[in-house]
Amino acid sequence: MATLSAPPRLIRSITLERANKFLQADLYPHINLYSRLYSKRSSETIRLSVFSVPDIKRISFHEAIAHDFEKTTTGTSYGPSWSTHWFKLNLSIPAEWVGEQVDLIWDSGSEAMVWSTDGIPRQGLTGDRGNDRRVEYTLVKKAEGGETIELYIEMACNGMFGTGNGNQINPPQEDRTFTLAQGKLRTPQKIILEIAVPNKAAWHLFYDMQTILGMANELPSDSARGQEALWTCNQIIDHFERHNLEGSLQKCLQIAKTFLSKTGPPSGHRITAVGNCHIDTAWLWPYAETRRKIARSWSTQLRLMEDYPEYVFVCSQAQQMEWLLEDYPKLFKQLQDAAKRGQFQPIGGSWVESDCNLPSGESLCRQFLYGQRFIERHFGERCRVSWLPDSFGYSAQLPQIVKQSGCKYFFTQKLSWNNINKFPNTTFNWVGLDGTRVLSHMAPCETYAAQADVGDMVRSIKNNRDLAFSNHSLLPYGNGDGGGGPQRAMLERLKRMKDTDGLPQCNMGGAETFFESVVEIAHDLQEWKGELYFEFHRGTYTSQAPTKKYNRKLEILLREVEIASTLCLGLGRDFSYPKADLDRLWKNVLLNQFHDVLPGSSIEMVNKDAREIYRKVELKGRQLLKDALDSLHEGPSLSDGPLIGFSILNTLHWPRTEIIEAPSINGFQFAQYSPDKTTGYLKVELGGLKFTTVSQTESKTEKEAVSVVHLASENEFVLENEWISAKFNDEGQLISLFDKREARELVPQGEIGNKLRLYDDVPPYWLNWDIEIYHLNTGRKAGTARARIGQIGPLRATIVVEHKLSETSSATQTIILTAISPRIEFHMKVNWDEVQTLLKVEYIWDIQSDFATYETQFGSLQRPTTYNTSLDSAKFEVCGHKYSDLSEHGYGVALLNDCKYGHSCHGNTMRLSLLRSGKAPDANSDIGYHEFSYAILPHKGTFHEVQVVQEAFQFNVPPLVRPIASDSAQGIQRCSFFSLEGSKNAIMDTVKRAEDSEDVIIRIYEAFGGRAAFRLRSTFDITSVHRCNILEDIEGAVRYNRQENSTELLVLRAFEILTLKLKLK
Ligand SMILES: [Zn+2]
Repeated sequence: MATLSAPPRLIRSITLERANKFLQADLYPHINLYSRLYSKRSSETIRLSVFSVPDIKRISFHEAIAHDFEKTTTGTSYGPSWSTHWFKLNLSIPAEWVGEQVDLIWDSGSEAMVWSTDGIPRQGLTGDRGNDRRVEYTLVKKAEGGETIELYIEMACNGMFGTGNGNQINPPQEDRTFTLAQGKLRTPQKIILEIAVPNKAAWHLFYDMQTILGMANELPSDSARGQEALWTCNQIIDHFERHNLEGSLQKCLQIAKTFLSKTGPPSGHRITAVGNCHIDTAWLWPYAETRRKIARSWSTQLRLMEDYPEYVFVCSQAQQMEWLLEDYPKLFKQLQDAAKRGQFQPIGGSWVESDCNLPSGESLCRQFLYGQRFIERHFGERCRVSWLPDSFGYSAQLPQIVKQSGCKYFFTQKLSWNNINKFPNTTFNWVGLDGTRVLSHMAPCETYAAQADVGDMVRSIKNNRDLAFSNHSLLPYGNGDGGGGPQRAMLERLKRMKDTDGLPQCNMGGAETFFESVVEIAHDLQEWKGELYFEFHRGTYTSQAPTKKYNRKLEILLREVEIASTLCLGLGRDFSYPKADLDRLWKNVLLNQFHDVLPGSSIEMVNKDAREIYRKVELKGRQLLKDALDSLHEGPSLSDGPLIGFSILNTLHWPRTEIIEAPSINGFQFAQYSPDKTTGYLKVELGGLKFTTVSQTESKTEKEAVSVVHLASENEFVLENEWISAKFNDEGQLISLFDKREARELVPQGEIGNKLRLYDDVPPYWLNWDIEIYHLNTGRKAGTARARIGQIGPLRATIVVEHKLSETSSATQTIILTAISPRIEFHMKVNWDEVQTLLKVEYIWDIQSDFATYETQFGSLQRPTTYNTSLDSAKFEVCGHKYSDLSEHGYGVALLNDCKYGHSCHGNTMRLSLLRSGKAPDANSDIGYHEFSYAILPHKGTFHEVQVVQEAFQFNVPPLVRPIASDSAQGIQRCSFFSLEGSKNAIMDTVKRAEDSEDVIIRIYEAFGGRAAFRLRSTFDITSVHRCNILEDIEGAVRYNRQENSTELLVLRAFEILTLKLKLK
């Protein structure tokens, strides 16, 4: 009988499990490959002392080491959450370890940083389990044996993702402690402190096995290569002998090499693996901790660069670089050196990775202006890739803004998180609102924190929707969100996957290299026109109302400071343009636009920090505005002689009529007063970008131009002026809005407007991020209300409505109609205390349209009012800035606001989201007192025919009013400083001093979606005008006629942004 010798056929599931266990810590701590990764270890020779920093302070290295350190041992606990403990380590390397590499193993269960004794951060450490774990620091590559080493470790009492209580996104646990205890490497759940000699052959095999096992898992089970991988895994384990370790490792390595060295076909998919480390500038930890995360993460990457010369690490957010420069100048210098070698590559070009829904157009410009300038100054060149992997949706104006900011390419992946529709493109041309195209890539691995494993390679092909046009993907790998970045294991796996049969060809490189190669190989790319709407996190348009209000108000304040200061410059006043101050204020506003701060998805600590930053910006901004206005008035107004009236600066460039509110001054007769007589009301006609002065002789009493009456019989209130008559019920709800000139009723029979409604706001997981589609089914009337007449005219009539919104929340609403406009304003003062409840205001109009219009950065866009398709219904809540508008042929109504961003329009129902009350990660989100306003503006004609844009500006940008004395009035120049003559659809948004000269920068955009033709005129003596980009590089000359004080005719395409640089004499 023949002897049978063949082994049994492999059973796939059993073999996979066997191989998994070979690499894991848990089950076989003494016999598998994992247990052999270190050949020697010791905890005997480490002496440890500690200085615990009091009061949760984060102090510098030199401050820390000046303190006395107390002897300590493993087993001691440190806390509370967010506190810092500095350790001094004195250790000696055993004599018999001569010639070996020696690593320190430190696992405090928290984040930590290794410092050299001369105060240079060496490497970050991250304890605890999971992908972020990084506990090894190489002390010496080749020990002399017997030497002693001294170093410091700065231990932070927080994990990589803060100290969330129970769940990562829960509010932080404030009393966490972290224990430093002696343990053994093979049980990583225990806290460890030891020195150890890595077994390099074992590590090598470990990475080989990770790769081969990954292929066995991820490649199709019916593919030859997948089967071969499975068989190879089994072979390696069969040959592994723990009692003959060194000999058997060599044999195993040979088996692995035979498998991995088989190369794939040249036509295979290509991947550029881009090392990166997403550090949220604040999120589940405060800004102060981020400053340390940066040093921990980036110093770690420098160590990897030393060992892997081909390794490229890209790094975004100039703000983080500036912090590093301030706090760790020596480390910053090392990064500059790495940048010269091409290993450290600044990317993105923006100040922070900002939210891209909420910031104004000018804010987005400044993100790039400040970002690119910092990077160019410190690293010698600008970024050409806009890198925004994690922002919650991308404005339709971004293509134009990034292109005008020196970027050629755009990168993200966030739309892979869409929870309704899959975004259909991977490599595509993104076409912006104005038609600007930018080559874009949405990483098909669907993360910016890829682990660089076989699964990432496979997903890069499987999820790549444009393989036919571009057979190349970008893989952004490296631990992220809390920082960390690539790990050694990732680089080792990438080396093995460079070119092995069955996988794409994968090279380490930078993002720009990737895009350049796409330019070469791609053809017939698809296009996507308009916004990259993110079908998720729709609550971030509304969460943290105070943050959003500050952002809007400060964007406007900084605009006013820049305009007033530029006028001083133009008028040759003895005034120094506050460039350094403005830079600081802008950078602070830009910082808070980070994609977890302005959206409201951070912990309470961050939100408090943000508000404190805003408070200081506001204080300083107001001071700067006052200084500039003082200079324009040639002196402070209130101290010089008797007051004779008011000067009013309209910072908008078109004429406007306003009812201004001014403090009552002795001897000045107003047409109307507030009930307490402290404020007077005055109707004024203002020129564009111009001072107007009003003295008593020019002011006249108005005849009754607006009225309010109470119809006792019906218990209704009627507000009426020349344009409209609006009826409200006794709860302040709008039951009729009649356009007197058009003889048109706007509230459908039986419907009402100005309805305050509450909704259950209970998303499945991401509380402060998400408003989920089913909330729409839960709307209900918000409590009860009682209306009464407030002011009765002649300039301003009001109805005051006291709301009891719920058992715990109340509001006072003042409804205002003035003598000058059909606009009805609703001013809200709300005491809000709710649990996961959303407050909206709702209007139903007798208007029919399939699309509504919403303001976006430097323009507007239309979105469907239907739920016809899943793409339409996914937009059940959308972002808009100062207005939304619902227009049909001939007529429309706009809904304006002064600090809100969450809109919706379904059929003929318009809604504005006012307040939320999510509980994680900030348990107290939005609880408290709020003031905000919104308004309705009925208008004849469609959105595109009328001045909704201008009205929305006017609602947000009141004229600057100040009392003047006779002598201070002398100095005021009453001329229009800059004006646009021609098309009304060109808006002059920004007037500022140039970054590098005394020139003046003016930014203008087309706001309605059509051609604009106009001339810029000025009363200043202008010697030359140039077109430039957002970075203020000159791009071409514009003819300027000095006799007529006017440029040539300038033409803008729909939604084009134009920046002009003016040289003044
Ligand atoms: Zn992020």
